[in-house]
Amino acid sequence: HKIYKSILPPVEIPDVSVYSYLFPKVDKYPESSPAFIDPDTQVTLTRGGLRAKTRELAHGLRNTLHAKFGGPKLARSDVVLIFSPNTVAYPILLFGVFAAGLKATLANAAYTPPELAYQYQDSGASLVITYPALLPVVLKMFESLEMDAKQARQRIVIAGWGLKDKGPKGFIQMEDLLGTGRLENEERFDGPLANETTLLCYSSGTTGKPKGVETTHRNLISCMSMVSGTFPLVHGKDRTIGVLPFFHIYGVLNVLHSCIDKAVPVVVMPRFEPVAFCKCIEKFKITFIFLVPPILVVLSRHPAVEQHNLTSLKRLVSGAAPLGAALTKTVQERLKSRGAQVTIVQGYGLTETSPNSHLLPQADADRKIGSIGLLLPNLEARVVTDDGEDSKEGEPGELWLRGPTIMKGYLNNPDATRDSITPDEWLKTGDVAVIDKEGYYYIVDRKKELIKYKGSQVPPAELEAVLLQHPDIADAGVVGVTSHVEATEFPRAYVVHAQGLPKDEKDRQAFATAVQKWIETHVARHKFLRGGVVVIDAIPKSASGKILRRELRERAKKEYEAF
Ligand code: AMP
Repeated sequence: HKIYKSILPPVEIPDVSVYSYLFPKVDKYPESSPAFIDPDTQVTLTRGGLRAKTRELAHGLRNTLHAKFGGPKLARSDVVLIFSPNTVAYPILLFGVFAAGLKATLANAAYTPPELAYQYQDSGASLVITYPALLPVVLKMFESLEMDAKQARQRIVIAGWGLKDKGPKGFIQMEDLLGTGRLENEERFDGPLANETTLLCYSSGTTGKPKGVETTHRNLISCMSMVSGTFPLVHGKDRTIGVLPFFHIYGVLNVLHSCIDKAVPVVVMPRFEPVAFCKCIEKFKITFIFLVPPILVVLSRHPAVEQHNLTSLKRLVSGAAPLGAALTKTVQERLKSRGAQVTIVQGYGLTETSPNSHLLPQADADRKIGSIGLLLPNLEARVVTDDGEDSKEGEPGELWLRGPTIMKGYLNNPDATRDSITPDEWLKTGDVAVIDKEGYYYIVDRKKELIKYKGSQVPPAELEAVLLQHPDIADAGVVGVTSHVEATEFPRAYVVHAQGLPKDEKDRQAFATAVQKWIETHVARHKFLRGGVVVIDAIPKSASGKILRRELRERAKKEYEAF
């Protein structure tokens, strides 16, 4: 086989637990340096504060929770679900869980009770740590699982640290678990134990419903080490905004892990809002930001860019979805006209690759615009045709990856794992790539069924299952359509009416609109059917009953572009 090796020098990867790696006994950096900052409340978590609080939370989770509050008796490797938007408490939660030797599963903060219930049960979690305003969702979830109110209350911790609103009384507060002691010796996963799972983010992979991605200590340490040569962070110089969701591995690794590793302060934003974002850049003299293409769309035209001093900004990295050359240029030129010399580079990766596998070096930003850059060190790649053969050099094919950042597998799902990782350890990405003569990679298509709305996963199989719960829907197929204006994809549904195709166009329209509204009461916002609903007489299927997605996608593309 033709195996492409990384042309970057290999890095050394220590086999230790990720907590011990990030929080060594003696810190290289001053304890007083700011680690996470809330721009609204001005609450600042220093490195020393983060270290102390993670150890306190670890002690609280392993000891106080059960002994004092009757909560679950958590043992090494048990799973804790974190359900919160970005807050300054988030890193305390994640690394407190890690220090306690527990696994963390991170849920999308926009989830509805059924979506949360799926992840809670599938991951085998026994505790939910949540943001005060999300408590009602968690309570509804436990209700749906028929857990009695008292038992449910013992399985919830409210993370109100650093917030004004701590939520209702009568629940275990994160503060109740802090200050009851300190775990001086964190649980360690050194040597071969570094291959144990520590993180479970959810991804649908190439097909089907979301699955728990088993990310190990070694996966996370590898990724941090592999990115740092191409995208160096400098303590004392660099400052960033944490706007990517901390529950998605893109933010978990590049913002939480890498910034703690290199002692770079993070200003925490729970959501992207253009004015607040530009204000933050100006006020905190932000130097670099990891973001997604739709944020660049806003930066290309929002007046806030002209009303703020953004000259501190030097680097932007876009990932999680394709970024076009035209948008890159527009933003670069607009920022330049405001006196900000910013290089914009693209990265690529998957939850299954912990996540970064490719990054464009800054020096190549102009020369290789549109490219996802070079394969990171310690990785190997193949480019494979539909028949499983090597693509000819320079021609497109499915990108396969191998190396220390590939997930261990999908949790409790050996079939899905076998479908995604070959016996000789190649991960099939489901993305179609081309490599140019100098070894730079371009993503040219997606082979798998996944739809991405502004960087968030929308698994079609999941939406189809929800649509089938509608009493008047007999069959459904969901595909993505591209919105060039918003630089993202929209999910579009084809549905079959249980009583057959309504004869009148008006009735079809009315039903489509009703379905579009109905879905909004059943799924998280990023899964809304923004690409429209179409009522048809049958979903195109193969002889074996599989949805012919390519056919549906081609139809959707034509219809959507005409519209
Ligand atoms: P996730 O696991 O949610 O990070 O989604 C991974 C998927 O996002 C990849 O398999 C790609 O389909 C897509 N993706 C991520 N980065 C890029 C990129 N730079 N260009 C095109 N697609 C991307």
